[in-house]
Amino acid sequence: MKVAVASLMHETNTFTEHKTPYEHFFIAEEQVFEDPFWMEKLAGGILSYFRQQNADIIPTLFARAIPSGPIEQDAFQKMIRTIIDKIRYAWPVDGICLALHGSMYVETIDDPEGYFLKQLRKHFGCGIPIICALDMHATVTSEMTSLADGLTVYRTAPHIDEFETGERAARLLHRVLSEKLDTIIESVRLPMLLAGEQSESDTPPMRDLIAYAIQLEKDKSILAADYTLGFPWADSAHNGIRVVVSAERKHQQKAREAAMAMADRFWQVRDQFSFTTEAHPLTQALLLAMSSPAKPVVIGDSGDNPTAGASEDLSIALAEMIRLKMRNVLHAVIVDAGAVQTCREAGIGATVDLQLGRAVYESGVEPLAVQAHIINTGQYEQTDAAVLAIEGITVVVTSRKARVHDPANLASLGIDLSQYPILVIKSGYLSPEYQAFAARQMLALTPGDTNELLETIAYKKTPRPIYPIDPDTSWP
Ligand SMILES: [Zn+2]
Repeated sequence: MKVAVASLMHETNTFTEHKTPYEHFFIAEEQVFEDPFWMEKLAGGILSYFRQQNADIIPTLFARAIPSGPIEQDAFQKMIRTIIDKIRYAWPVDGICLALHGSMYVETIDDPEGYFLKQLRKHFGCGIPIICALDMHATVTSEMTSLADGLTVYRTAPHIDEFETGERAARLLHRVLSEKLDTIIESVRLPMLLAGEQSESDTPPMRDLIAYAIQLEKDKSILAADYTLGFPWADSAHNGIRVVVSAERKHQQKAREAAMAMADRFWQVRDQFSFTTEAHPLTQALLLAMSSPAKPVVIGDSGDNPTAGASEDLSIALAEMIRLKMRNVLHAVIVDAGAVQTCREAGIGATVDLQLGRAVYESGVEPLAVQAHIINTGQYEQTDAAVLAIEGITVVVTSRKARVHDPANLASLGIDLSQYPILVIKSGYLSPEYQAFAARQMLALTPGDTNELLETIAYKKTPRPIYPIDPDTSWP
């Protein structure tokens, strides 16, 4: 068995001004097997499975970037050209297994995964099986379901089953090859937008819907049954929720019935999705945190969430904390490369005047003028950082976007987290690490590129009507 494996993963936010160039991708080729960044995740599940089977693996290209704005056209074309060239060089191969996010957006291509599959079909024909593993927040298109032979999707959010989802995709491809299966994907679109913060997988109704999909898979004629929830911070003509059921062509009718049953069940509970974390407007969240007997309180500044592609450079939450005269609060992080540079030049112990945060978020919002005392400078993950004291609030500023997913990253900057009863972090639903750290979790519903109040977003391309923006939306 000779299989080509590739990964292209980016969750693209079309509301942020920042584009995603090639340099922002973490790239691996043959060396992928030595890198835990890849081997513990989606692509690693695929590669590990085939390695166990002693398959002849062609590792083509593995590219993943932190969620941000549209991918530059040249970057996307360069990546898919590399993958196609490497498969062509290794040709013939028996099958292709892909680790994709599913919600990419390229400057001039609104369905990059569909486009990529089309290119693969153009070069390698319709006879070669292609199986894709996807993020739960994929925006699946008709092109994708007609060009792929099978799909597997994460079943957890926060995503802790990336590796297993990759393994399931690899196992499916192995079966298709060894049993010479002729497969199809039955798909149903539901006209609905849903934020990840309302659909965590350990909370109903999402928990029960996933359990139902897994139950349907027990029927041997169903190869895979999943929900993809889409990504509401991309304004796409393909927006919506999808049911995707993979099956042998001879069981197409059964797959159709399963997909309709899954869609129907989802639609029945559409009004039961609500924030799985306590959620409030910013000021109220901060006031509740101050009076909370349970400490530490960790608040997600959800409108500026870098893991859903926001720019992470807004100082709106900080301005409000200063206005409320909060003390002993830690705020992480604000991206401002110029401010980090100024602090490094001034040195630890100095006091500097800064214009902090994005120059203009929306008309009328200026960067925040602050006087900052420099407590420390160093690295936050792979990024230059400074720790500042601003009116009694400790603020971490970074020169590039960074996930705020692990309290240990703050400790590495010399910050003693036990000193802070309140943490305000740039995050949507908290990572498992911060969930474990927090005595109480909250979402602050703030403005930004990942505004959780979807009904206030000015969608232009998203098909209407769509629930819950249009409450009377009907289906089927
Ligand atoms: Zn996701």
